[in-house]
Amino acid sequence: MVERNGRSQETTPSGSTHSPPDSFVEQANVADPAIHERFETNWPDCWTRAADLLSWDEPYDTVLEDDDAPFYRWFSDGRLNAAYNCLDRHLESGRKNHAAIRWEGKQGERRTYTYQDLYVEVNEFAAALRDLGVEEDDVVTIYLPMIPELPIAMLACARIGAPHSVVFAGLSADALATRMDAANSEFLITCDGYYRRGDAFNQKSKADNARIGLEQDVRTVVVDRLGDDLPHVLGDDEWDYHELCEEFAGETVEPVSRDAEDMLFLMYTSGTTGEPKGVVHSTGGYLAHVAWTSHAVLDIKPDDTYWCAADIGWITGHSYIVYGPLALGTTSVMYEGTPDYPDRDRLWEIVDRNAVDIFYTAPTAIRAFMKWGSDYPDRHDLSSLRLLGTVGEPISPRPWNWYREHIGGGDCPVVDTWWQTETGAVTISTLPGVDEMKPGSAGPPLPGVDARVVDAQGDDVEPGEAGYLTIGRPWPGMARTLYDGDERFVTEYWRRFSDPDADEWRYFSGDTARIDEDGYITVLGRVDDVINVSGHRLGTMEIEGAIADVDGVAEAAVVGRSNDAGNTEVYAYVSTEREREPDAAVRTAILESIESAIGPIARPAEVIFTPELPKTRSGKIMRRLLEDVANGEELGDTSALRNPEIVGEIQAEVGDGV
Ligand code: ATP
Ligand code: MG
Repeated sequence: MVERNGRSQETTPSGSTHSPPDSFVEQANVADPAIHERFETNWPDCWTRAADLLSWDEPYDTVLEDDDAPFYRWFSDGRLNAAYNCLDRHLESGRKNHAAIRWEGKQGERRTYTYQDLYVEVNEFAAALRDLGVEEDDVVTIYLPMIPELPIAMLACARIGAPHSVVFAGLSADALATRMDAANSEFLITCDGYYRRGDAFNQKSKADNARIGLEQDVRTVVVDRLGDDLPHVLGDDEWDYHELCEEFAGETVEPVSRDAEDMLFLMYTSGTTGEPKGVVHSTGGYLAHVAWTSHAVLDIKPDDTYWCAADIGWITGHSYIVYGPLALGTTSVMYEGTPDYPDRDRLWEIVDRNAVDIFYTAPTAIRAFMKWGSDYPDRHDLSSLRLLGTVGEPISPRPWNWYREHIGGGDCPVVDTWWQTETGAVTISTLPGVDEMKPGSAGPPLPGVDARVVDAQGDDVEPGEAGYLTIGRPWPGMARTLYDGDERFVTEYWRRFSDPDADEWRYFSGDTARIDEDGYITVLGRVDDVINVSGHRLGTMEIEGAIADVDGVAEAAVVGRSNDAGNTEVYAYVSTEREREPDAAVRTAILESIESAIGPIARPAEVIFTPELPKTRSGKIMRRLLEDVANGEELGDTSALRNPEIVGEIQAEVGDGV
């Protein structure tokens, strides 16, 4: 044990481990300790356990076809419909009056859709889409905020076999146009506008602007979200959502039986690094994998109230607000607002009132809760919670422990789930009913997933060493290709660690990681986020983790700066918790923590305190921008930021400090 920052720490960076409580294990969907081994000895047939959670129109015979690697095919001779799996089959099994979606609006509005309600509205809208000319395999673009019409539109598309492409509502007109153009999409579903901190915000004008630059004719459906608060007029080729549903009231549409390998949807990655990629997901393998991980990792049961507080505009919301939970017939909470409006206890008020059993969010949110302090969750009864989850970025031990303690009451297991738009569903995580948790580490690869940390030659690294995070065997939820073309798919993800001549394929995630003696994987960050100080390759995440370990620190971002002599040095941006003033003592503790966790080589040349860090719309820290600020460079486009105003403040601070 080493004493650091006044807290005791074991020699592993993750600190102490936690076993899942017996009370959790006893009720867990998956509690068989032999599951990892069973999947291993029985691969790929083990994945039928996932596929068996679905209802197939035609059962599959073949589990995996790998003769055209890396274009793998899963359950490929089976047929199914995703909307049928998320709706019809629950009506048939007597759950039609069970709540499917509990929607919590920004202005305090609430709407509950039972499975029957959702079925009716999805059918009506599916009939309307058909009438507008949407045919099987046409890409329908959906540009909606977090309102119930968003999942309804997705399921309506799935019902008629039209792949959807959801574009996050906060993205610009240009971003929408680029994505519609790339997918040659001729149908758009949007709304008049939505509320942002109480003000009406115009969405339709953004959609209108996007359409101007497109070559193809676009038919548009507009959801009236704001009514008189923001009147709008419909032009040519525009229809009102509610009028359409009225026109097709009571109509039902036979779910189109899709080949398991047919595209369910297209999803552009968030663009934290480089150009967004149009990731193509299948119907059978994707749905099986999200249903299985909702069952095994998130431990969702039909009678639970489950809440993934992400936005459906990103993959997390696709997989774990819509498809996974609805395939299992549970109640999925959908929240339109932000965590701090009208007050910073908004989420806990929702958990309390809905008696939420499972809560899934991102480290960026957890760090904000920690920064705001425990008074807010303490105002509410959170004892209904049974399991907590996190996804999106690495989470260091301190926020992990804070989350478990202050939200989970000290006895909820926490699953730190690593996955990507491209993996479709969770691929690395502890199974909460089976595995021990090590705060700061995502955990072992899921049963059946061959995630490995390798060196530049593709050989497994020794425990404790850092390397590239790769996956050696296919998995059902994996992306099938990129919409831009098969070639880019191979170049982006497969070329680096595969040997096509030997027909050996290894997927490269673009992340770096470390693995320990127990096979637990700690994700360090992206390959691009490495600072080379005098020939030492330092991972930004690791340094950030050491900073975040300091009491009073809320979050940190670290970048490389080229000094006058042309050498790279470490530059740290730090925000502190609400009640903690950034003073010399915090600065000293930060430097000490970095030295003890990594070494003096990683000691930052400068520590800049800022009230917030610049974040993308999906909540990830924009290190590229901070690097430009540190290097006094011209800043590129900041429109992708959620909080562009902070950049000026940071620049002023950096100017003062240098
Ligand atoms: P782009 O690929 O366009 O740059 P993105 O990678 O941010 O965007 P996503 O697919 O939403 O888009 O995010 C996946 C990435 O998020 C992972 O590659 C990893 O860097 C990070 N990530 C997700 N979950 C975790 C986790 N539990 N621990 C650490 N990192 C995570
Ligand atoms: Mg990515």
